[in-house]
Amino acid sequence: MTDNNCIFCKIAGGEIPSATVYEDSDFRVILDLGPASRGHALILPKEHFKDLCELDESVAAKVLPLAGKVGAAMKEVLGCSGFNVVQNNGETAGQTVFHFHVHIIPRYEGGPAMVTWTPGNADSTELAEISDSLKEAMKS
Ligand code: 5GP
Ligand code: ZN
Repeated sequence: MTDNNCIFCKIAGGEIPSATVYEDSDFRVILDLGPASRGHALILPKEHFKDLCELDESVAAKVLPLAGKVGAAMKEVLGCSGFNVVQNNGETAGQTVFHFHVHIIPRYEGGPAMVTWTPGNADSTELAEISDSLKEAMKS
């Protein structure tokens, strides 16, 4: 299923042109128009899913292997020494396009720090409370 109002549905389906680096029956991989680094790519499923929580399991199973292939190609031809795989869900997490997608961001020696955070200090009571409530929610 696609969504007529979704720009990534249009790009994935080829209705809007994009710098495509890979395509098969399930996915189109394109270069990001606002790259975090040179070669920043996006994996777009051709089917419309709002986010990871809605993603079909058979599509989901193919995403990480594809991300690994894209990353390996980046290391081979772009000269990056690593890459980040980033996937945002919800506005507070930085999602701006509500069609599931995965960012593959090449990382270069001496390049800017990104996809990072300052570690906090875990409180053991809080960890126990959180893990109990999540464990319960995961059962349903
Ligand atoms: P999000 O913030 O939702 O995780 O990521 C959306 C990404 O899509 C951003 O990195 C943004 O630069 C990219 N983007 C938004 N619109 C377009 C577009 O029309 N074409 C391409 N190639 N990238 C886009
Ligand atoms: Zn869509």
